[in-house]
Amino acid sequence: MIFCLADEFMNDFSINTKLVHAGERRDKPIGKPVATPLYATATYTYDSMAEMDAAFSGEGGDYIYARYGNPTVAALEDALCAIENGKVAVAFGSGMAAIHAALFACEITNGSIVLASQDLYGASYDLLNKIFGVYGVKTKTADFNNLDELKSKTAELKPRVLLAETISNPLLKICDIDKVALIAHEAGAKLVVDNTFASPFLCQPLNFGADFSVHSATKYLSGHADATGGIVVSKDEYDRPMLDGIKKLVGGILSVWEAHQILRGVKTLALRQERQCSNAEILAETLAKNECIEKVYYPNLDDKELTNKVLREDFGGALVSIKLKNDTREAAWKFMDSLKLCVRATSLGDIYTLVSHSASSSHRELSLKRRASLGISDSLVRISVGIEDVKDIIADIEQALER
Ligand code: PLP
Repeated sequence: MIFCLADEFMNDFSINTKLVHAGERRDKPIGKPVATPLYATATYTYDSMAEMDAAFSGEGGDYIYARYGNPTVAALEDALCAIENGKVAVAFGSGMAAIHAALFACEITNGSIVLASQDLYGASYDLLNKIFGVYGVKTKTADFNNLDELKSKTAELKPRVLLAETISNPLLKICDIDKVALIAHEAGAKLVVDNTFASPFLCQPLNFGADFSVHSATKYLSGHADATGGIVVSKDEYDRPMLDGIKKLVGGILSVWEAHQILRGVKTLALRQERQCSNAEILAETLAKNECIEKVYYPNLDDKELTNKVLREDFGGALVSIKLKNDTREAAWKFMDSLKLCVRATSLGDIYTLVSHSASSSHRELSLKRRASLGISDSLVRISVGIEDVKDIIADIEQALER
């Protein structure tokens, strides 16, 4: 029997019981909600044990328990599946949990090799070494922008997985995904692409042959610096049980509140990215003429042909990195401390323009020598361009550079 405030028998109960049950478990409204509601419930009841049993057996019913699935989270998963042209999407509590799940779904075992991009996000590299490494998975790196080197390393190492990023951090190199997918598949490896820096508005890696596209939804998908999440999209239904299993058994689920925020963010992804990319393009061109700057890194300035192929045509992404002429950490910090509008913060993809100093944040753990070999100099500053008026962003950066 389902209690609800409207039920007459509620009157038979004492105030203590009414306080607990009154108003709960109402019938679903006949009218469909236009926006996805927040299903903030940890568990579900059925009208009978027979129905409950059918739900547990997977033969009937639907939701049982929050760790197994939630309608708000499922709406986000469906949205990403459609946007990325996938067959399965599973959301997680963070981008790192999503990368972990994608790697696991590639069926890596003791002795498997993962060949990762040498520019890989530091925490992903640590995940491979410090967590998967414990279970005997070996990680090697290669320059994914040198396709000859990548091909020969892949043929030699016979990795189970190639792990790439659509746009690298912080030098913003574009991955030629369809060529990398070919190299991976010729060697019998899976290709996982971390698409966080591009977002599905600019690139859909599965269309280029990747097996998994992974996002830190904390970035462009949510877009407002107020939610943490991750999502894996696979092009193969085969991956569903493994991804669902990791969600259920490792338990790094996306909270319903964050799913709601991220789903709302997805609605305005195109609008935000159009403004962010156009601001970034103008900013990159302006800064390329600034005498305090040694080099501007921006995909459309570096390799327009490849950028046009991999990213949405005529879009160069919304991140710009700069190396100062005075190539010292002190100069970079002074520049950053002088900013009044742009926000000093790690992360990216938000409506706010965010600036981060790579050598003391994302690449802090690397030795000086390793940073230098990757081309990450002491003064390198990454700018994640927001949706503010580009004139204000430029004015703020120029006045800080003058200091
Ligand atoms: N992938 C990339 C490229 C990132 O930059 C980050 C975080 O900065 C992650 C994954 C991890 O995402 P999260 O912080 O949501 O776990």
